[in-house]
Amino acid sequence: MAVKKDFKRADGRKAEDARPMTAKVGVIPNADGSAMFAFGDTVAIAAVYGPRKLHPQHMQNPTKAVLRCNYDLLSFSVGDRKRPGPNRRAQEISKAIEWALSPVVDLSLFPNTVIDVQIYILQADAGTRTAGINAASMALAQAGIPMTDLVCSIAVGKNDTNLIVDLSKGEEDFEEGEGATDFAVAKPANSSSFSLMQMDGKISPELVPEATKLASKVCEEIYEIQKKTLKDSLLPSEQEKGAKK
Ligand code: UDP
Repeated sequence: MAVKKDFKRADGRKAEDARPMTAKVGVIPNADGSAMFAFGDTVAIAAVYGPRKLHPQHMQNPTKAVLRCNYDLLSFSVGDRKRPGPNRRAQEISKAIEWALSPVVDLSLFPNTVIDVQIYILQADAGTRTAGINAASMALAQAGIPMTDLVCSIAVGKNDTNLIVDLSKGEEDFEEGEGATDFAVAKPANSSSFSLMQMDGKISPELVPEATKLASKVCEEIYEIQKKTLKDSLLPSEQEKGAKK
């Protein structure tokens, strides 16, 4: 089954369109690296601290650093206030983010240390783990952590039989026909392999290649945004230019 070209979504997007994407680095000056990434109303920030000595000592790895990710939805990020603090969902997503990022980070350079990646969702309208991964990848790069690539992440999925990209919360809750499927993926930008595939719902095996092709195409757009944002952050600001005159 091919992506329906005439299929219009509730917010007017075409099946293959992500929501408007925005990104910024250096949003948390006290962190070693930080970034914000948004898909429409879903806004994630990430802050990187380290590498720094890992305590307690028995958790240290003498051959490499530990990459420790912590994801959480802030209470005010969702319509119904979320109970503050970690829960099973946050623990699972933290681990998934760690796995998605690990292949590109050279941990062997910093034995016995920890690199902490804190990811907080300021506003949630689905796609929070994918926005979080995009932000975390930029924050790691800004912190100067040696990386072989940037990781890009997007959700693809289905509403009934229609393949769609970057589901909103309304689309994730779709119940008609076959209902909704949410398939979050992440991939190092310059690799053909994926570092994360997580599915909520069902998709037939013959649709998977088309879904991953759609995801890869949006990952290319995300990569361009990440690169441009990181490069622009190195240029002098208007204020700095003025001070030089
Ligand atoms: N959500 C919520 N309360 C929660 C958890 C999730 O309102 O405690 C909403 C939020 O909008 C989130 C969406 O449900 O983005 C989908 O959550 P899911 O677990 O599928 O992860 P995501 O798509 O955000 O990565």
